[in-house]
Amino acid sequence: MPIVVPQRDTCPFCENLADRRPCAWIHRDEVIASFVNPRLYGKGAVLVIPIRHAPTLLDLNAEELSAVFAHAQELIRALLAAYGPEGFSVFQNNGVTAGQSVAHYHLHIVPRYAGEEPGRIFGEGEFQRIPIEERLQIAEEIKQHLG
Ligand SMILES: [Zn+2]
Repeated sequence: MPIVVPQRDTCPFCENLADRRPCAWIHRDEVIASFVNPRLYGKGAVLVIPIRHAPTLLDLNAEELSAVFAHAQELIRALLAAYGPEGFSVFQNNGVTAGQSVAHYHLHIVPRYAGEEPGRIFGEGEFQRIPIEERLQIAEEIKQHLG
């Protein structure tokens, strides 16, 4: 059975990459990019994506897989330095039934702070989009701690 991914007319992440939507970029190169999640699950919640439109984990090539996780590690170190969380979650969903809402592979990195409910599962619908100005500020703070 093929994985059933969300169907939309346009891919919001490809729109971001084409600079047709405001996006608080943290990093962009030829293979991958990262940006502040508009739905701020926790201060410093970010997404890592491949530049190429690849719907799920199974569609990534070896270079993309490696680049996504190498950058995730750099981002987590920067987030620890910038905001001092006590932990962090790294997750991604493949297919509508798994909770995938954008059919362009994306890895979530969510810092976890003292006093939060341990192991809380985040639901996208629980969070409002935050203004681009606030996202740009967070991107700057993270970039200051990237090697
Ligand atoms: Zn896309």
